[in-house]
Amino acid sequence: MIEKRDFYIDGRWVAAQQGQDCLVIDPSTEEPCAVIALGGTADTEAAVAAAKAALPGWRATPPAERLAFVERILEIYKRRAPEMGAAISLEMGAPIDMAVDDQAAAGTWHIENFIEAAKHFDWLKPLGPQAPGTMIAQEPVGVVALITPWNWPMNQVTLKAIPAMIAGCTMVLKPSEVAPLSSLLFAEIVDEAGLPPGVFNLVNGDGAGVGSQLSSHPDVAMVSFTGSTRAGIAITKAAADTLKKVALELGGKGANLIFADADEAAVKRGVTHCLYNSGQSCNAPTRMLVERPVYDRAVEIAREVAEATRVAPASEPGAHIGPVVSEVQYGKIQALIEKGIAEGARLVAGGRGRPEGLNRGYFVRPTVFADVVPGMTIEKEEIFGPVLSIIPFETEAEALSIANDTVYGLTNYVQTQDGARRNRLARALNAGMVETNGKSRGRGAFFGGVGASGRAREGGHWGIEEFCDSKAISGWAAE
Ligand code: NAD
Repeated sequence: MIEKRDFYIDGRWVAAQQGQDCLVIDPSTEEPCAVIALGGTADTEAAVAAAKAALPGWRATPPAERLAFVERILEIYKRRAPEMGAAISLEMGAPIDMAVDDQAAAGTWHIENFIEAAKHFDWLKPLGPQAPGTMIAQEPVGVVALITPWNWPMNQVTLKAIPAMIAGCTMVLKPSEVAPLSSLLFAEIVDEAGLPPGVFNLVNGDGAGVGSQLSSHPDVAMVSFTGSTRAGIAITKAAADTLKKVALELGGKGANLIFADADEAAVKRGVTHCLYNSGQSCNAPTRMLVERPVYDRAVEIAREVAEATRVAPASEPGAHIGPVVSEVQYGKIQALIEKGIAEGARLVAGGRGRPEGLNRGYFVRPTVFADVVPGMTIEKEEIFGPVLSIIPFETEAEALSIANDTVYGLTNYVQTQDGARRNRLARALNAGMVETNGKSRGRGAFFGGVGASGRAREGGHWGIEEFCDSKAISGWAAE
């Protein structure tokens, strides 16, 4: 059991002034594995005050010096990656090898990409030859609140904290109360890197407490949030009275369009991706749309892949999926599986209850539904569990219309050997990202969506811009 560690404010570890304790539950065992403090108003106030006091100094620090701090963070982060993987595995149930190789490594990947982007970032540039003396500057937004979820904890923390630092913002991070341990470790890393006190602050708390206090705080200029669409709406409303900038990265209901000429591995790849991280990724391809001539075969492959997917405790090494994060998520997923059956989808793998041999822990059976009809609850709602819906289609137009008939628009996927069709669909799909034939986004590309998926652009160059306000200056003196 990890003993209570409190907050990191103004460069020091401090005890909570208010609020209550909260147990962190290991989802593989359902046993408490740590206790944290949930902060109250006094803690939020102290953290925002520290960030506000540190802002003038940090924004005046030359970008190259800010970047040097981030390079130091990268070094320490890499050294502590095994510990980071272990913390993530314990708090949210990612299998230990995956937690180190993918979850913790996502942080390394983002920090490296931000460092590269920062080296080429135009902090001040001429508008163009048509406007002599007009310059466009990028200025830090100010004090920013970073509110993060539990599903890819370090992916999301590094996608926010690192570009905020590079941009010259000071910040208060409120990680998910469900998975706070990795963020406490991240605060240790920042501390060791020697950032000036107050640039980075961490307060643990829940959404109703610290989350909403930050979202409505007059001294916070921006909230960068990842999580549910419900909380994204609440934060946007809470931020309205103080006219904050709000960057949202929300849920998804990714469509994966598989045509008859798709490569051999397309279906297997799609199912594996859907089940990855126990289905708890906002960009998961949870709706598999399959062209009729290859539909039956695809359903069969999906069944085989789901049945061959091992489910085991997070502490076990090797390739398997772990539990889902919490009792609440387990219950929500079970109810949606139930709903799929009740609404007449054909269950071809998995289903209700835990996998055989596991009677403790929030383990869900890798589940595949076929003959899913557009409009069914499991086709519309983000399940956030290892549950795939397969839907047949006859024509490209029909596939496009099903794929786009959702409030979400994060990542869509296309599998076909026909290049012209790939390009056509990539432009026509309503999404922030489209990945084709198993190629994931290139180094330095952003992550972000449209509509109910939020419109944040996180990562690389765009991720730094998110934390900047552009300023137009005329009459700039030649130096
Ligand atoms: P959530 O949105 O409730 O929580 C995410 C973060 O927001 C946490 O830090 C939480 O404390 C905070 N928060 C919650 N309500 C808030 C409020 N009113 N004001 C300020 N902060 C608030 O997500 P959850 O309950 O952990 O998961 C619920 C659902 O959200 C999942 O089933 C899934 O569909 C979705 N989700 C999506 C993502 C994603 O990456 N898009 C990540 C996690 C969860």
